[in-house]
Amino acid sequence: MNKGFYAIFEDDQKKLVMIRILTLFTLFFVLFSCKNNPTLDDFEEKNIDKEQKDTVKSTNFGIVIHGGAGTILKKNMSDSLEKAYQEVLEKAIRKGHEILAEGGSSLRAVTETINIMEDSPLFNAGKGAVFTHDETNELDASLMDGSNLNAGAVAGVTRIKNPINLALEVMLNSEHVMLYGKGAEEFAVTRNMELVDPSYFYSESRLRSLKKVIKKEQDELSSVHSASFEDPYSKDSKFGTVGCVALDQYGNLAAGTSTGGMTNKRFNRIGDAPIIGAGTYANNATCAISATGWGEFFIRSVVAHDISALMEYKGLTLSEAAEEVIQRKVPALGGDGGVVGIDREGNVTMEFNTAGMYRAHMNSEGTLNIGIYKK
Ligand code: ASP
Repeated sequence: MNKGFYAIFEDDQKKLVMIRILTLFTLFFVLFSCKNNPTLDDFEEKNIDKEQKDTVKSTNFGIVIHGGAGTILKKNMSDSLEKAYQEVLEKAIRKGHEILAEGGSSLRAVTETINIMEDSPLFNAGKGAVFTHDETNELDASLMDGSNLNAGAVAGVTRIKNPINLALEVMLNSEHVMLYGKGAEEFAVTRNMELVDPSYFYSESRLRSLKKVIKKEQDELSSVHSASFEDPYSKDSKFGTVGCVALDQYGNLAAGTSTGGMTNKRFNRIGDAPIIGAGTYANNATCAISATGWGEFFIRSVVAHDISALMEYKGLTLSEAAEEVIQRKVPALGGDGGVVGIDREGNVTMEFNTAGMYRAHMNSEGTLNIGIYKK
């Protein structure tokens, strides 16, 4: 009996040793993987000098967001819906402002502000993404860090709850700038990101919009007058992309954009939102820009980079450059939409050539300015 008893005891001792070895091994593994897989915390640790954090703070930080541009008319909007939009815009921008006020990076402010709009069914991004022609949801997003011109983008993802977070992962933890579709989702799994069932993006109102757009398209095709099929998307089919630009207390700019694209899009169409230089651009030397509108025209006009280039090469101010591109260059091609932007001095622009653009701005003093319709 005693022998048996000691044998059990010895086994327990062995087990204990094994557990200790395993715990140590796991600890080393976790430490090692953290070191090689930077998170936003690591990014801030590396990029924000601790001493600088306590001493050199600029008073010029600021943040600007948009929630899409289009035929947004007061007469079509109920008071309760208007209020609902304003509430989410305010919640999102206050979140980003709080991050900046506490000394966080513009990259964090942009990402977490966009997360709030992605989680709202009101906007065409994340939860509220519009439907493709095949009744699926394909989401695009991109993010850019103006301090080093690093960027990350994803396109055509169908199972990512917050595509802007995956764009951030691409930027921080891959050697690539842009990943697409299934491959992007496989990468998300390697980053321990949770995949959602595609039904997460289902909404009856978005499906209704799709059916309306398809019906309109069929009516137009069968009508003799519109056989030219000029506009494959209804004007109302591109609402609600979300975007954010920010300047932090260390003079760093960042920009991000997230979208479900355009209702009724087909053939794995990708718009401007995930394309660096078209829908998103940030450069500490000039400005940070996030765009919204008819993506094909924004790609052809390379909108976000063109605004930066006009500042860099021609010496225009941010608002002059944004006006030139949004009020002249894009409409000259036949496109419409808008941008939000901020420069390194904290000057901002919220330029659009449509009837409205959901938008908000907060400066370092905390003054909040929310708008929906044309002034
Ligand atoms: N620019 C987006 C796209 O073309 C749509 C939008 O901004 O509403 O995919």
